[in-house]
Amino acid sequence: MVLLFGSTFAAPATEYTSVRAECRKNHKQKLCKKVKKPQRSGKHKVRQNKLPPVADPSRVPLGAKLLLSSKQEAIRDAFSECIRHVTETNRTGAVVDFVFREQTAREENGLRAFWSALRGSTAHHGHEVCLARTFRLRGYRDLADIRREAGGQLVEISSPYVEVVSKEIPPDRRFTRPWVRDYIAGLAHDMHQHFALEEQAGEHFVPLRVTSMIRSFEDQAKEVRRGLSPADCRYAFLCSTHTSGSSLDLGLKDIGQQKRAWLEARLIADQQKHKILFIIERSHYHVFVLPPEYMGEE
Ligand SMILES: [Zn+2]
Repeated sequence: MVLLFGSTFAAPATEYTSVRAECRKNHKQKLCKKVKKPQRSGKHKVRQNKLPPVADPSRVPLGAKLLLSSKQEAIRDAFSECIRHVTETNRTGAVVDFVFREQTAREENGLRAFWSALRGSTAHHGHEVCLARTFRLRGYRDLADIRREAGGQLVEISSPYVEVVSKEIPPDRRFTRPWVRDYIAGLAHDMHQHFALEEQAGEHFVPLRVTSMIRSFEDQAKEVRRGLSPADCRYAFLCSTHTSGSSLDLGLKDIGQQKRAWLEARLIADQQKHKILFIIERSHYHVFVLPPEYMGEE
């Protein structure tokens, strides 16, 4: 558990060791030194080299102190069902299969269900957060944390075909993860190639517009307090994937019908290839890009 914004942040369950205070006395005061000791689980010792467990909402003390809305409870339940698929021998594969199988199932009952599934749901939200926890993607606490990682774990998007919309994203939030940058740069490049003839014929060039990138826990807390998002980072099972830099938003404004149709078809195809998990929101596409491998950062 980590205290965040004066509240209890249900951090992913990394407490596989307990901290025991070893004390010795001298003649003036009692001196205590904190020592990490492996925690026992039943009869078995937990080995230090064992993979740390993933976030498990059953460890979160869900009591009177945690006031979840019905929407947040539904997200928690979806997360809970998803995270059960993690095993030590199959750390990410079974979860990825589960998430995309569920997405396909939501899309299957006719055209209306298909488009409805792409507009998001509590299940989708829970499953997206489940992917972030499964890959153990760390979140960024505040601006200082983001600044520390700029140029390292967090990178800028530099592509002639991408516009990072400056009036939407402050300079210190124009960062994402390297695999997200590569995905977006590739997508924008392909969109440009596809429409190159029209653009040569004098049509106005429209870049791929990115309207939101990384957010810190502090930024996210403001959104939650203003009632704009249920993705409350005090709870590991709700926390927005924007805080890990692994998702971003692509603006729909002024993109035009043709480009929107192309982009949507491409995002659907990439989702079917398990590269991304995305939803269509009112003014943008929210796109979570799966990391290339287990990250183990949390
Ligand atoms: Zn988003």
